[in-house]
Order: sequence, then C-alpha cells, then structure tokens
Amino acid sequence: MAKYRGPVCRLCRREGEKLFLKGARCMTEKCAIERRSYPPGQHGQGRQRTSDYSVQLREKQKLRRIYGLQERQFRGVFERAERQVGVTGAALLRLLECRLDNVAYRLGFGVSRKQARQIVNHGHLMINGKPVTVAGALVKAGDVIEVRERSRKLAVIQEAMETVESRGIPDWLELDKEAFKGIVRALPAKEQITVPVNEQMVVELYSR
Ligand code: SF4
Repeated sequence: MAKYRGPVCRLCRREGEKLFLKGARCMTEKCAIERRSYPPGQHGQGRQRTSDYSVQLREKQKLRRIYGLQERQFRGVFERAERQVGVTGAALLRLLECRLDNVAYRLGFGVSRKQARQIVNHGHLMINGKPVTVAGALVKAGDVIEVRERSRKLAVIQEAMETVESRGIPDWLELDKEAFKGIVRALPAKEQITVPVNEQMVVELYSR
C-alpha cells in the first residue's frame, strides 16, 4: 500500500475523533475535529454503515493511523502479537507502544509520533548509549533512551520538550528532562496504554 501523503486531519475526521497526529495544533480550536467533526468527502454527512465488519475495520484503521504504520507493517506487528503468549489484543498494543518512535513521542522528544519518527531516523537518539535509527525498534524494561549530546540544542527537540508536561508521561516511563534521557521502568500493561481503540475488534477483523 502506498504511503499516505494527504492531509492528516482528514484521517481524524474519517475516524470521528482526535488521533493527535499534528502536535500542538491538536490542542487548539484550529483542530479540524473541533470545526468539522463529520467524515470528509461528498457523502461525509450522509448515513454511515454500521456492519460488524465496518466497525472492526474502523478500529483497525484508527489504531494503525495513531501509530502511523502502513498496512503491511501493521499486519506484521499483528502477526508477531499472535505468536506471543497471552491475549493477542494486549500483545498488539504493547508491541505498538514499545516502538522507539512512540517511546520518543511519549518522552516528549517529538510533538507527534511522526516528528518523533524523523528524530529517530535522523540519528538523534540512542538506546543504552548506542545510536539507533530504526523507528520500529522495540524497547525493553530497563532501557535508557536519550537524545545524543550533539542533538540536544536542536530547536525541534527543545520545543517539543517544552510541551511534554502538558501531555503527561505514562508511568511505565521515567523522564530526566535536564539530561534529555528516559528510562523504561517496565513494559506497559494494557491499562497503561491509553489509545481510544477497542483492540479486540482488530483481532476479530484479522480472524475473519
Ligand atoms: Fe487530528 Fe490533530 Fe488534525 Fe485535530 S489537529 S484533526 S487531532 S491531526
């Protein structure tokens, strides 16, 4: 599937809720959901389908869009979750949440997951003292994620870190803001992953 390059607010409108894809703008009245909370397109204000399949599909699309993955990547994460011991839906959420780009976003190194991914891709972050440029790398309990010394003065990182308190840091992570460093206290439990998605619907969709 081709990479989506259109307006990201359209994705939120399609799902009917804020997915927080644009950083600071999402908190303002300029947010497209605040102004036009109906689906985009000519028939956006018409009757919506509500079959089981369409509900499951929307939940899957929402989760995929929140974490910014292409269908094939997302499917790969799901298949990995299926191979894990325990509940597949919970494993799926944990695998998505432990991606380095998401952890960088949660720690405030980027204002959105998309920006955090660029920060990872451009080599500004290290895990346990080693540079990592793979956005999908998974963190483990005890890992230390930090901004490289030479990157700490970048405006994009400094500005993002100014907003981190207002967003809140999940309790499975710990941030040392002065040192541009975060620690993974433990892998997140399902209850600690606050994304507005019913992951069981995603499991049901892929089990069809
Ligand atoms: Fe979604 Fe943010 Fe755009 Fe609002 S501003 S529609 S939350 S991406």
